[in-house]
Amino acid sequence: MEATSTRDWDVIVVGGGIVGCSAAYYAAKSGMRVLLVERDAPGSAQSGRNLGFVRQQNRDFRELALMIGALSIWKGLEAELGCRVGWQQGGNLSLAFSEADLVSRHDWQKRAAEEFGLDTRMLSAMETQALVPQLATDCGVVGAMYTPSDGKAEPARATRAFFEAALRAGAAFAFGEPVTRIEISAGKVSGVQMRDRHYRAGTVVIAAGAGSAALLRKAELDLPQEFIRATVARTAARPEPRIAACVSGQHTGIRQDLNGAYVISVAGGEYDLRLDSWRHMRWYEATRKSNPDAARIDYLAPIKRLFPSRGHLPVADFPPSRDNPRPEFFRVEQANREFSRLFKTLADLRIETCWAGIIDTMPDVIPVLGPVDGVSGMLVGTGFSGHGFGPGPMAGKVLSDLAAGRRSPVDISALSPMRFVKGCSSSKATNAGE
Ligand SMILES: Cc1cc2nc3c(=O)[nH]c(=O)nc-3n(C[C@H](O)[C@H](O)[C@H](O)COP(=O)(O)OP(=O)(O)OC[C@H]3O[C@@H](n4cnc5c(N)ncnc54)[C@H](O)[C@@H]3O)c2cc1C
Repeated sequence: MEATSTRDWDVIVVGGGIVGCSAAYYAAKSGMRVLLVERDAPGSAQSGRNLGFVRQQNRDFRELALMIGALSIWKGLEAELGCRVGWQQGGNLSLAFSEADLVSRHDWQKRAAEEFGLDTRMLSAMETQALVPQLATDCGVVGAMYTPSDGKAEPARATRAFFEAALRAGAAFAFGEPVTRIEISAGKVSGVQMRDRHYRAGTVVIAAGAGSAALLRKAELDLPQEFIRATVARTAARPEPRIAACVSGQHTGIRQDLNGAYVISVAGGEYDLRLDSWRHMRWYEATRKSNPDAARIDYLAPIKRLFPSRGHLPVADFPPSRDNPRPEFFRVEQANREFSRLFKTLADLRIETCWAGIIDTMPDVIPVLGPVDGVSGMLVGTGFSGHGFGPGPMAGKVLSDLAAGRRSPVDISALSPMRFVKGCSSSKATNAGE
């Protein structure tokens, strides 16, 4: 699908996820000539498949300013884009099951309040129960951390809304083919190549999610980006009574969607072994040690890829994506077990469908956002490490402002792509783990 001419562009945005679509929208709105290029369809990858939490709570402090900025966008987004994206400011609730849980959540809450003025507060077991009466009284909850200003939205709707708003603001698009090369001459970006077509621009924004590292490597920037396959399931709808907050249990995230169904997902995912899995292994040693449950290595992935996925559940329909990741039915069962234990009165809800998405992660589990030193006009917004839907709109705004030669509206100094380049001063933030 294509709706472009061969003229030059001010900005080419690679990737039609929430980051790329919002970058295209803000850039077109500010008067730039924008081309959005996407190999599949907008929202076909992570941005249409995620859990829909829009949370400041429990984030790495290095990305909190970005997320706080994003929240101010989310609050006015339906008015700004003129359509419903399922936004609800129902708060985020992270349940505690032990004294140690309470201590770690309290430490985060205290720092977030002192340094960022966040409204996060600690709740007792009784207060937690009062906030979410559907929570089983015998599920072992001893308290919770709660951030009332957090919210939730419908991932596919929000991404599509940014895409359509970008078109209305004057952006053009080219879909259906991957960008195969970023063209650079004399240390300056000059455009992109899609098969035998060339598009010219002085600025290229790489917001290609899990496709970013491969593109950047050809442009001599080796980002140690890796991929985790995460499974999500959706229950039948029970519209009333509603649970406004997004809830994080021991291992499972739970959000009631716009139609009243529950979208549930376990925190862990699958690391599918590839031929080049050795490439970034050393970067992930600390991450693996600090969070061994984050990824299960699937050694048989190269073989399993050859066979269609079999299971007792229908896999949800999404805009076609060439990754077409396979959900893991045992993850659905894991998530459903915890959901049913926490919400006994909802345990009879049938799981209706499931799907998977490929998370693009970085070793330090925070995004890569900003310019690439030494290549004028190259901007990167990728590696959101499984929590980029919430900050996505602000990441798009940052990229659009940088493309226009303005300063970032929020502090992104710890998120530079250069932190992974040996000898570069911003590489100090590397590999800190979460
Ligand atoms: C199961 C799951 C649950 C999640 N839950 C949450 C959550 O609750 N809250 C939260 O904040 N985040 C969550 N996330 C993370 C969030 O979805 C992502 O961080 C965010 O959507 C990333 O957006 P993006 O635009 O960077 O990338 P994507 O949405 O992945 O978009 C990148 C796009 O680039 C395209 N592309 C790739 N290569 C090329 C190429 N060479 N040429 C052209 N196009 C290309 C792809 O087709 C894709 O459409 C979750 C992710 C998953 C998978």
